[in-house]
Amino acid sequence: MRTRTEVTAIDLSARTVRARDLDHGREYNEPFDTLVYATGSVPLRPQISGIDAAGVYGVQTLDDGAALRSELDSERVRRVVVVGGGYIGLEIAEACRVRDLDVTVVDRSPTLVGTIDPDIGVFLGDAVRAMGIALVHSEAVVGIETGHDGRAIAVHTDAERRLPADLVVLGLGVRPDIDLAQRAGIPLGTSGGIAVDARMRT
Ligand SMILES: Cc1cc2nc3c(=O)[nH]c(=O)nc-3n(C[C@H](O)[C@H](O)[C@H](O)COP(=O)(O)OP(=O)(O)OC[C@H]3O[C@@H](n4cnc5c(N)ncnc54)[C@H](O)[C@@H]3O)c2cc1C
Repeated sequence: MRTRTEVTAIDLSARTVRARDLDHGREYNEPFDTLVYATGSVPLRPQISGIDAAGVYGVQTLDDGAALRSELDSERVRRVVVVGGGYIGLEIAEACRVRDLDVTVVDRSPTLVGTIDPDIGVFLGDAVRAMGIALVHSEAVVGIETGHDGRAIAVHTDAERRLPADLVVLGLGVRPDIDLAQRAGIPLGTSGGIAVDARMRT
């Protein structure tokens, strides 16, 4: 039978992990010879006003995707602002655009998808605009305005631009989920992940 189990601590000297059975509440130590640390990542969420408002979505899990889709299916959404022009943001922007919505992507970088060369990013920007998606570059989002009901109604940038929105989608990247490792005293590298050797060992 499948159980849901969370690791809550790592004891390196005893070579055990502390595990909690989430279905029955039982806690126990699980011994290991080798531990593989693969907890994934945590989405980046800047501490700006309105970030937790209704109508503001991240897309990290399948549940996030399902919630976003049911919002789009509700037909109350006309204008979508996507914050972040990486590949996740662009996938969402395209998916909204093919539903014939007004879509704006805002990114603090001068070109899209920071992992590709800027000159290719320019071509990509042209292709995205040709789809009817508006791009706002070199502006960072500083706040999300909410209406009387607490729902997001606009995105504000550091260039004092106000982008009206019925729905805001965040695609701002991720950071390594190193909480357990940090508490176990495992050394971190310069970019905030676990420091590893050429064989990915720590
Ligand atoms: C919308 C979206 C689209 C993407 N599209 C692509 C794509 O087209 N191609 C591509 O290559 N990549 C894509 N990615 C990226 C890809 O999903 C990630 O790179 C990949 O999931 C990372 O795998 P992972 O195993 O490191 O982490 P994850 O898949 O996040 O797995 C980590 C697992 O660890 C579990 N966990 C965390 N903490 C604990 C704990 N304390 N105890 C027990 N379990 C724990 C979590 O529940 C989770 O199941 C996409 C990501 C998103 C969000």
